[in-house]
Amino acid sequence: MAPMHSTELCNLLGLQIDSLPQEHPLLKQFPLRVPAPYLKRIEKGNPADPLLLQIFPRPEETLSMPGFSPDPVGESEANPKPGILHKYKGRALLLVTSSCAIHCRYCFRRHFPYEENNPGKEHWRESLEYLKQDSSISEVILSGGDPLTLPDKYLAWFMAELAQINHIRRIRIHTRLPIMIPQRVTPDLCKLLANQRFQTILVIHSNHAQEFDDEVDAACLSLKKAGITLLNQSVLLKHINDSSDALVALSERLFKAGVLPYYLHLLDRVSGAAHFDVPEETGKALIKELQAQLPGYLVPKLVREIPGQEAKTPVG
Ligand SMILES: *Cc1c(COP(=O)(O)O)cnc(C)c1O
Ligand code: SF4
Repeated sequence: MAPMHSTELCNLLGLQIDSLPQEHPLLKQFPLRVPAPYLKRIEKGNPADPLLLQIFPRPEETLSMPGFSPDPVGESEANPKPGILHKYKGRALLLVTSSCAIHCRYCFRRHFPYEENNPGKEHWRESLEYLKQDSSISEVILSGGDPLTLPDKYLAWFMAELAQINHIRRIRIHTRLPIMIPQRVTPDLCKLLANQRFQTILVIHSNHAQEFDDEVDAACLSLKKAGITLLNQSVLLKHINDSSDALVALSERLFKAGVLPYYLHLLDRVSGAAHFDVPEETGKALIKELQAQLPGYLVPKLVREIPGQEAKTPVG
């Protein structure tokens, strides 16, 4: 998926909005990237479209704000081997790729040193050995980047390697692909994920009900039919989903697609993303409203990631 020019996007949508200048280093490092199926769901002529706001590089990204830093969640301290993050008991996260189908401007890994964390097959052996040596690890999370940007044969390689480690019982995949490019969820991919001895969980990442259409529903349904547990995590984002109406609609829409809400994250304070930040108090008040309007199973857990803690920290 080739990066796009902001002007080109504005032209396509019939908009004129101030963008981060094309030559800015922040855009060189983390270009505007938006896949066609998602682009299709952005409303033309609406500069406040909640899908557009997630991907459009704003001049505000250059502002340096107190409390916002390149590594807000302390990942560089939890990096025992290249490609592995091991922060929480029982769960290890593998950074299997640095690529994403979309660039979310609020992403907390936008400054992550992926170059130092791209082990290549040889070195993956060493990282897999780390998993083998720690029998307390029962769940492996494939993350990145977006693991479903990898071709099936690479995913199959990881699955086969992990299947040889007896204490790993669950595989979890953190991905935006079923939303961004639902066509990625092919019968072959479903077969690959289903034909494993693991219990498989797929955590999609959707922030707004408008991200769903029939194709996304079909992708979720095929994953569900393959026996995969589907969960969603969202980030609470200013002007995108910071209203009870937006969050209620999202939970309802997720459930329609067979997905349960899991986490609603307070923004990780990564440099360049301050314009997305929603105060914790607002988050708590929104959750109260959701509790008053939705069945308990459709209310996500509001959490913040605090470096050094043994789990995501519940808020409220
Ligand atoms: C968020 C995260 C996990 C998963 O945490 P859960 O609460 O189990 O969803 C695991 N490892 C790392 C490094 C994480 O950031
Ligand atoms: S898809 Fe995930 S990892 Fe990639 S830019 Fe978006 S939030 Fe970040």
